[in-house]
Amino acid sequence: MQCPGCQREMLILEYKEIELDHCPACGGVWLDAGELGLLLAGTPDPPAGLALAGARPGARRCPRCPRKMSLGRFPNSAVEVDSCPALHGLWLDRGELVALAREQAGRTGDAVVRHLLELFGEAKPNEGATT
Ligand SMILES: [Zn+2]
Ligand SMILES: [Zn+2]
Repeated sequence: MQCPGCQREMLILEYKEIELDHCPACGGVWLDAGELGLLLAGTPDPPAGLALAGARPGARRCPRCPRKMSLGRFPNSAVEVDSCPALHGLWLDRGELVALAREQAGRTGDAVVRHLLELFGEAKPNEGATT
């Protein structure tokens, strides 16, 4: 699958039997619908869970369909993410998955946050503020 951020080929990382598409070039992660909930809470979130508050059109295309993704935030979240309007999934820039996991640390648990940090690392300084 092609990275929606930089168009390179992504690698598949397995975590708890969830296949995550990760771009080693730009550090972003693609999550199919439901995978965020599986990852953070052990249960898939419903497709409607991908609907974002205050979503606006973004510039990147969904890797699963030709549509452009929307930019927005989940309720009670400060992290801006890209979401396919046809609800195929979610694109997270470098560091955003860890940031989401930290926000949900109460139900996610520190072990998951630590493991994601090992897999994907922190956001680079000066990155993410403009997306
Ligand atoms: Zn990339
Ligand atoms: Zn799509």
